[in-house]
Amino acid sequence: MNGKNLVYLDNAASTQKPNVVISTLSSFYSNSYANIHRAAFKIAEKATQEYENSRKKVQKFINANSSNEIVFTKGTTDSLNLLAFSLGEEFINEGDEIVISAMEHHANIVPWQMLCNRKKSKLKVIPINQDGELILDELDNLITEKTKIVSIVHISNSLGTINPIKKIIEKAKEVNAMTIIDGAQSIQHKTIDVQDVDCDFYVFSGHKLYGPTGIGVLYGKEELLEKIPPYQGGGEMIAKVTFENTTYNQLPFKFEAGTPNIAGVIGLGAAIDYLQNIGMDNIDNYENELLNYAEEKLTSIDGLRKIGNAQNKASVFSFIIDGIHPTDLGTMADAYGIAMRIGHHCTQPIMDFFNIPGTCRASFSFYNTKEEIDFLHDSIIRIKKLLG
Ligand code: PMP
Repeated sequence: MNGKNLVYLDNAASTQKPNVVISTLSSFYSNSYANIHRAAFKIAEKATQEYENSRKKVQKFINANSSNEIVFTKGTTDSLNLLAFSLGEEFINEGDEIVISAMEHHANIVPWQMLCNRKKSKLKVIPINQDGELILDELDNLITEKTKIVSIVHISNSLGTINPIKKIIEKAKEVNAMTIIDGAQSIQHKTIDVQDVDCDFYVFSGHKLYGPTGIGVLYGKEELLEKIPPYQGGGEMIAKVTFENTTYNQLPFKFEAGTPNIAGVIGLGAAIDYLQNIGMDNIDNYENELLNYAEEKLTSIDGLRKIGNAQNKASVFSFIIDGIHPTDLGTMADAYGIAMRIGHHCTQPIMDFFNIPGTCRASFSFYNTKEEIDFLHDSIIRIKKLLG
């Protein structure tokens, strides 16, 4: 990048694609491309099989009880909008409350605000402390008999905080509230077992999991997915249509209106195979090692302030440097070949909380190295000299 070796440290935004994902996409389009379901010919049958195999791979990857519980969407944002609409239609009435946290991505704020406006319900927010951790003492005040939905990010994309989701889910269950986990930043770092976590819904994006863009997953407990209405109408999601009435297809197809992202789903299956070959625990351990190394090395830089000091953190390092605007730092780093994200990371309320315009964020994947962190360190020192 810019004539330099690329140092890609923007993995929380999206991850690079393994060759096997690229070749799976290419081979599908080159050799056996066809629309899925309802076709009588061979390659359509094969495409359908591969699409449904990917669903089973996702099911196993997150240990869902049944592949009926895996709905393919466009991504985390799409999954959350689906839930805000469909849960909202079925379960939310005037005066009901929905609980989120102060460290949510806009995708887990705005759909709930829109629902609250539609239904005259209320949005409540679990606050955070200066370390960027949820203030759990507030749970008793916030999660009450009025709470119908608790929707929480597992790992914060701008702070790296790993939230104690099991504890929050337990609390939500005491009042029979439904629970949603935004797994956009956890699925690529941690082994996820939705039955163990016991959330009602878990959502994530394929593109952050080394898969293609435009594909995502909504996991939902079967009995709840059965109860809620579809989000969109059209082909695939129906059993019988007349002008008077329509009956809906069985799960999961009820939520997959129209021709889906077939290649995206198949590519996601290849990404999951690839990750399972490496082993999610190996990935987690190595990324923790990188984070610890980065935290030690980078916090030694004079004037660097780390944003996000949670005890329990994933491989996201957000920071600002005294006297240097994050945008200037990001632009200069780009000239050295370093890809980092700068700005509010779609979490403006967090920036308001810390009273900063944004942060510079280095986020690490298993393909990053300590040498790259050294290079980031040395580049920041150089940039400081130039701009300071
Ligand atoms: N939630 C979190 C925590 C995220 O990090 C992101 C992506 N930055 C999203 C939701 C939205 O994901 P997508 O843009 O893939 O829909």
